[in-house]
Amino acid sequence: MSNSLLVQATILSPNHSGRRNQKITKIAIHHAAGVINGRNLAGVFVPRSRRASANYNLGSDGVIVLGVDEANRAWTTSSSWCDNRAVTIEVGNSTRGPQWLVSDYVLNRLIDLATDICRRNGIYPCTYTGGKDGVLQKHEWYKNTNCPGPYLGSKFPYIASEVNKRLRGDKTVSKPTSALYRVRKSWSDIKSQKGAFKNLENAKRCADRFGLKVFDANGKIVYPVGKTIDQLAREVISGKWGNGEERKRRLTQAGYDYKEVQRRVNQLV
Ligand SMILES: [Zn+2]
Repeated sequence: MSNSLLVQATILSPNHSGRRNQKITKIAIHHAAGVINGRNLAGVFVPRSRRASANYNLGSDGVIVLGVDEANRAWTTSSSWCDNRAVTIEVGNSTRGPQWLVSDYVLNRLIDLATDICRRNGIYPCTYTGGKDGVLQKHEWYKNTNCPGPYLGSKFPYIASEVNKRLRGDKTVSKPTSALYRVRKSWSDIKSQKGAFKNLENAKRCADRFGLKVFDANGKIVYPVGKTIDQLAREVISGKWGNGEERKRRLTQAGYDYKEVQRRVNQLV
């Protein structure tokens, strides 16, 4: 038995049962219920008091961190039956509830990882049957939980079909990271990165949420620079910036003059 070569870091959790007592025949995909990078996500499961873990932690930044060796049974799905058979994956979200979105980039990384798990463990086809008999498993079938959330949950048939395409030899891989839009405080402040997105609209949503900026592959700001007060006022009216104190805080954090924007809003409504 082996671990995936897609792993970019190893932050092992002590929370597991040792060797699994079943052959790997399943993959349980969870969502982290949070926007969190791969290393921090793995770190959540390091304290023994947490009494939980996952074989792989795929962060909102697309970074894959090994948490429990594949050979061992992780404590992820609230089911000995499932976790003994399944390689388990926690996936970081790009937004919080109620939608709990996952970025296209992270979804693609997840498909890469699931493909690799199937390939090394002789699983084909990768099935989603909507039940415990299929390969792809949902936490909510074993426990009263909202995991993996409405968005990721709706993608299970797509994930299965993409994995099978790749297993059949379609060499589609994740877009090179250089083509991504990165959401950071500044280009040089790599640690401030909250996400990397193929889709500019998703990157903008993330930037708005955290009061950050979107940079292209060359480090050029593509958002929110160049927005006029008028554009911002119309965004406020359409609800993009929330209300009251939240609106004030988010506009200010994004580097805008809240009073000026609000004045234009009052003129327009
Ligand atoms: Zn879960």
